[in-house]
Amino acid sequence: MIVDRQGRRFRNLRVSLTSACNYACTYCVPNGKRLVAAQDELSAEAMARGVAYLIEAAGIERLRITGGEPLVSPKLETFMTAVGQMGLEDISLTTNGQLLAKKLPLLVDARIRRINVSLDTLDASAFRGIARGGDLATVLDGMEQARAAGMKIKVNMVPLRGQNLDQVMPLLDYCLERGYELRFIELMRMGHLASDSNAFLQQFVSLQQLLSLIGERYEYLQASAPVDATAVRYEIPGQGYFGVIANESVPFCRTCSRLRLSSTGWLHGCLSSSNRHYVGDLLDKPRHQALPALQRLLVKALGDKQEVAFSGGATVMKIIGG
Ligand code: SAM
Repeated sequence: MIVDRQGRRFRNLRVSLTSACNYACTYCVPNGKRLVAAQDELSAEAMARGVAYLIEAAGIERLRITGGEPLVSPKLETFMTAVGQMGLEDISLTTNGQLLAKKLPLLVDARIRRINVSLDTLDASAFRGIARGGDLATVLDGMEQARAAGMKIKVNMVPLRGQNLDQVMPLLDYCLERGYELRFIELMRMGHLASDSNAFLQQFVSLQQLLSLIGERYEYLQASAPVDATAVRYEIPGQGYFGVIANESVPFCRTCSRLRLSSTGWLHGCLSSSNRHYVGDLLDKPRHQALPALQRLLVKALGDKQEVAFSGGATVMKIIGG
């Protein structure tokens, strides 16, 4: 097991199955282009082998499938079938929900029990303005179907000043009524926002701002969360829970256990570092050759983690896997 001076190790792996996405959210894809996959993406088999090797080399216990948009990828079924047989403690998926109803049978068959659906607004016109793709009603229907199929749903919302702050309470109520746990994600200085401080600050909404908005209507208490959780979690007694991934206000680098594998075969140990480590070539090698080399790269990737706080990264979230 590879552990750093702060006692951190890689436990959670996020795999970006493809960088293609059927949305072009303003804060993630500034050029507005949808469905652009990287040229040199790995096959489903190579990515699954990557997961198997990382379970052994790094001690990965939990896997989240993300992207890009994982549900647009033709690799999804093969990949899910393979990783489903690896004895992982948990496999979950992050999606924008546009293809959720369509792919639900596949997800149920693969025994995916937990999904995070990204949804920044319940207002159809604001939805078109932010996501620049897809259809709100289709997402809501997909979530209902997933709930009816017994899936545990979290909803991810990025609050953006001037764009969807008026949606914080409607979305919270919507989620509380249905037993979905809402996660607010503080806007991160990723991609173009890492170099454009004005654009970032104009849109950024802090944990404190969110809590005072929510506190106008609800009483809430801080709730427990796993040690390496990224979200600060709150309970609204008798109603449900919500969380805030407050990367700016309450940095979680000290306990970060995340490792990311991109669709083109790069390992990222930290969202806030431009360092990345190519493992695509190792995934064609037999285990006894791949593992020692992989372990050397994992030491480097763990060393890329920030000591205390996230400071921003040039990599776009849809490439690195949100
Ligand atoms: N397509 C999937 C989805 O929409 O959930 C998975 C990939 S998406 C990049 C994962 C998450 O990253 C989404 O919840 C999105 O809102 C979030 N995200 C992207 N760029 C971000 C940024 N700069 N700051 C905060 N969250 C961001």
